[in-house]
Amino acid sequence: MNNKNRKTDIVIIGCGVAGLYCALHLPKDKQIVIVSKDEFERSDSFLAQGGICVLRDEADYDSYYEDTMKAGHYENNPRSVELMIRSSQEVIGDLIACGAEFEKDENGYVYTREGAHSRPRILFHEDETGKEITSKLLATARKLQNVTLIEHYTMVDLLTKDNVCYGIVGHDKDGVYSTITADYTVLATGGIGGLYEHSTNFRHLTGDALAVALRHDIKLQNIDYIQIHPTTLYQEKPGRKFLISESVRGEGAILLNSKGERFVDELLPRDVVTQAIRKEMKREGTKHVWLSLAPIPEEEIRNHFPNIYAKCLEAGYDITKEPIPVVPAQHYFMGGVAVDEYSKTSMDRLYAVGETACNGVHGKNRLASNSLLESLVFAKRAAGQIAEGYITLDEEKERQVLSKPGIREKATYAGYAEQYKKAVLAAIEKEKDYHEQYQYDVERG
Ligand SMILES: Cc1cc2nc3c(=O)[nH]c(=O)nc-3n(C[C@H](O)[C@H](O)[C@H](O)COP(=O)(O)OP(=O)(O)OC[C@H]3O[C@@H](n4cnc5c(N)ncnc54)[C@H](O)[C@@H]3O)c2cc1C
Repeated sequence: MNNKNRKTDIVIIGCGVAGLYCALHLPKDKQIVIVSKDEFERSDSFLAQGGICVLRDEADYDSYYEDTMKAGHYENNPRSVELMIRSSQEVIGDLIACGAEFEKDENGYVYTREGAHSRPRILFHEDETGKEITSKLLATARKLQNVTLIEHYTMVDLLTKDNVCYGIVGHDKDGVYSTITADYTVLATGGIGGLYEHSTNFRHLTGDALAVALRHDIKLQNIDYIQIHPTTLYQEKPGRKFLISESVRGEGAILLNSKGERFVDELLPRDVVTQAIRKEMKREGTKHVWLSLAPIPEEEIRNHFPNIYAKCLEAGYDITKEPIPVVPAQHYFMGGVAVDEYSKTSMDRLYAVGETACNGVHGKNRLASNSLLESLVFAKRAAGQIAEGYITLDEEKERQVLSKPGIREKATYAGYAEQYKKAVLAAIEKEKDYHEQYQYDVERG
């Protein structure tokens, strides 16, 4: 064994809201290792702008439930939706206890609205809600004696035998391979935007959990359900696309074609608005449409959207004075590693939480600002189940798994990044064909 190999109680792959929040709810007498492919602060959780949904009061339950189901084309798992909504106040309470702050006025918390929400029910912190929440969770995790955080460590495989997970194989930034054995493994690797040319996601988020799941026959679900965000800033330069949050439209911004005409109700669900923009771009032969913030008072723009204001100014647009060019881009992944209501995968001792997991809560299309909440709710449920049924690994079997030839050798994984990307994209195409055939069969009765 090289001296980089580790043995811990629980290993979590990913340091966004899902991975961190899961760690915070695991027993304090268990050793936890959290690894992150890049810097801790470079997760999509830090990018979330709009906010986080919460059930404001009992009177809003039915309408929040219906909005989530309707946005998801009623393909959502009703139990997951119920669990998410019912747990939302508790989760917000935890976040506030960790030091997260949300916008308030003299009457208490202020709630904003985004597309397809029939009522304002979104808490926010300026236009950097994700950074506010995730930085506070990270600071809390850093203070815990039982949590070890490792940056620039990339998981490339799972250690498995007879459908039981024994931990992971990965490499550091110098390409040195090692294993981390653990009683329980939690995949929290986020989305898949890095697989696409145009995406709002960090480029290093390439669906690695899906690739390792494919390698080990772990069940996946709805992996062709990929959300395109209707409004990202149109720029010629390659790289991550800058998101113009839906709450900008929620506060009154309007979409215009090249002639300055409105062509869609801006508050329809994301997939519907995206389709309308694409149709308009095709009809006019343009590379983008325009988003005008003219209906929003200047002070409101500066106070509620300071980050968007600054980023657009950097790109040469003053959003208080002129419209900005916007284009749809890959944004969110509704499908993922299939999990039950405790985030358990089809493999023993393996959990998946956050955007990389699919518990069916979003159905075919996610309702805006439900994803931070969903990640948190189901990460806590995973931690609860691990704690409750904790059983230490069989050491003899662990030794057998670790003695597999070539398990930590670089040569075993030569070219893995390209192969994984191809495998995941091919699996997405296959799932798309399956869904199309299914739809065709349903329509033909
Ligand atoms: C621009 C933008 C705006 C958004 N706005 C909102 C919003 O307003 N409200 C809302 O609810 N949601 C929003 N979302 C979605 C939300 O931010 C994400 O769904 C959520 O943060 C996902 O959290 P996560 O913990 O699952 O993944 P992430 O936060 O993406 O974290 C993934 C982690 O996994 C690590 N990782 C990945 N692969 C590996 C590997 N092979 N080995 C080791 N580590 C690995 C990464 O380094 C990272 O630490 C937004 C997303 C984007 C991109």
